[in-house]
Amino acid sequence: MTEPLIISVSGMRGIIGENLTASVAVEYGGAFGTFLKESNPDSRLSVCIGTDSRPSGQMLKSAVTAGLTGAGVDVIDLGLVTTPCVGISLRQLGCAGGVVITASHNPIRYNGIKLLLSNGIAPSPEVTAKIRQIYFDKKIIFADSTDCGKVTCDDMADDRHISKLLAIIDKEKIANRKFKVALDSVNGSGGRVTKKLLAELGCEVFAVNEEPTGLFPHNPEPTAANLADFCRTVKAEGVDIGFAQDPDADRLAIVDENGSYIGEEYTLALAAKYIFSKKTGKAAANLSTSRMIDDIARNAGGSVIRTPVGEANVASAMLDNDCIIGGEGNGGVIDLRVGPIRDSLVGIALVLQLMAETGKSISELAGEIGGYYMSKEKFSANQELARRILDSAKKVFTGAKLDATDGCRFDFDDGWLHIRPSNTEPVMRVIVEAKDRVTAQKYIDAIMKIRGESTE
Ligand code: MG
Repeated sequence: MTEPLIISVSGMRGIIGENLTASVAVEYGGAFGTFLKESNPDSRLSVCIGTDSRPSGQMLKSAVTAGLTGAGVDVIDLGLVTTPCVGISLRQLGCAGGVVITASHNPIRYNGIKLLLSNGIAPSPEVTAKIRQIYFDKKIIFADSTDCGKVTCDDMADDRHISKLLAIIDKEKIANRKFKVALDSVNGSGGRVTKKLLAELGCEVFAVNEEPTGLFPHNPEPTAANLADFCRTVKAEGVDIGFAQDPDADRLAIVDENGSYIGEEYTLALAAKYIFSKKTGKAAANLSTSRMIDDIARNAGGSVIRTPVGEANVASAMLDNDCIIGGEGNGGVIDLRVGPIRDSLVGIALVLQLMAETGKSISELAGEIGGYYMSKEKFSANQELARRILDSAKKVFTGAKLDATDGCRFDFDDGWLHIRPSNTEPVMRVIVEAKDRVTAQKYIDAIMKIRGESTE
């Protein structure tokens, strides 16, 4: 069965040659260009564009570029770069927006068109709806013959990114430790720039899957199951730490010196541990993110703002509240000094800084935080079923503190449960964190009972 083309706050995502074709991409690029022109009618506008390493990236980039220039917007082609590179470059170059051709961690048959606005953040649901409307109504306003956009190339995106990163850390302190680091870039766009950063930090790098071929050697989501080979490599090479990126390098998972997968949840927690060791303030994280960050912030006299799931929600909350760190539990760390965008290189830089300053191993540092058991489940559910399940859950968990801004998050004394419909597929996600496995299972069992009763 053909899957529907998805247009959400995460951008457009589909299957190449089925529902995501060159003609779709031209019109989506044209719709984005039209939206930007309508929002800034008196200015000459430019948009940065970059691709991850998927073989379909060139085709989509050419098509989106045709749509944008056709709508009268200039395009700056950054080439094969990471998603955070695009977010950083577009702000430095004063662009009205950015486009990243990526389907993030989805398998190779997928690709996507991720949009960013001039602040480097993905559009809000309201703005996404406007761009969607222009696209579906085909209300693209094409420029006349003398007004079409021009295309220029720029190969400075990696360097801009690295100089932003070096400004937030003590390069010498890290370099003095001469860390041995393993890196798995899953043949995505992260390998080149990350190796460059690690070289600047005096690290000896053992890189695997560093060629940006887009031919993923394993399922590209950086989860424990998908990184079993990498964990063995980390152990065999005797390195201090292993870093694994997703194909567009906005997410980071960490493997400790013993070859144990620490987990994506720890990436943000460890980065926050470093930041809060230097200063105090507010952090932001989505509702599905571990309580570890709350413990770290509280111990430093700070606090955490919780947001609906989605990078744009976290980044906007960070800007509004002047947060010192933020991100998502899927390994996406955001530091506004670098950019309001999830960035695996920020995670790498902050974690190495933490190791350098404390002199502790990554397993010791991870052992100092946490102590929770977390479980992430999902099951198929259409909108109607999702609504019934959420209504029932509210009646069952009456004693819990409820946040209903994104599905339902129930906070109990011994843990929490977040159940929400996915933004990108017809499933419900259930995330539970508790003091131990038995308690977590109690909450999962309760949700599965509600699901069974709601399906009848
Ligand atoms: Mg990604």
